Amino acid sequence: MYLKKMEIVGFKSFADRTKIEFDQGVTAVVGPNGSGKSNIVEALRWTLGEQSAKSLRGGKMPDVIFSGTAKRKALNYTEVIVTFDNSDQYLVGYEEESEVTITRRLYRNRDSEFLINGRKCRLKDIHELFTDTGLGRDSLSIISQGRIESVFNSKPEERRAIFEEAAGVLKYKTRRTETESKLKTTQDNLDRLEDIIFELN
Ligand code: ATP
Repeated sequence: MYLKKMEIVGFKSFADRTKIEFDQGVTAVVGPNGSGKSNIVEALRWTLGEQSAKSLRGGKMPDVIFSGTAKRKALNYTEVIVTFDNSDQYLVGYEEESEVTITRRLYRNRDSEFLINGRKCRLKDIHELFTDTGLGRDSLSIISQGRIESVFNSKPEERRAIFEEAAGVLKYKTRRTETESKLKTTQDNLDRLEDIIFELN
């Protein structure tokens, strides 16, 4: 699996629809300060499910939408489409598809949408698809400025999570936590039911 293409419209400095194709191997993006290099990486992280506006250098999520310039009106909508080459059948559940596209859309009124291969899905589906692939939410495939320092300064438990993601066990840990929480809710419901039965007797 490798990142093949990105199509960005209305995301930060990218007002016009912009297509970026990546070859296998190393791609370098060069440009003057403030020209939008980091915005490309942020568009990628955002599409893969980043939910923290702060980590995208904004106060609230709609701040990622093109906010206009002296010559150009602000936009009300952003869409980023990221295409992965999946000819090595790396992405579980999509082995039949040679390409997998992830789309994220956001409107200024905060309506938003995620799509996998053009079909609407939940944010959770995006997270599940990429957990343990090295492209998960907190994975180290994308290292932004300042991230290396924060890894070195992180607590041992946080550093352990990095190894767990690399070893492919994070998915199971997340599912265990979810199941434990469901079990607890069920137990609470059972306790309530017992109380009601007791009162009725
Ligand atoms: P450097 O080399 O300094 O790190 P860079 O090429 O990585 O710079 P970015 O940080 O990606 O540049 O882009 C910053 C530019 O994006 C700024 O000019 C800023 O005004 C613009 N920008 C950020 N958010 C928005 C937005 N919502 N709407 C319009 N422009 C935006």
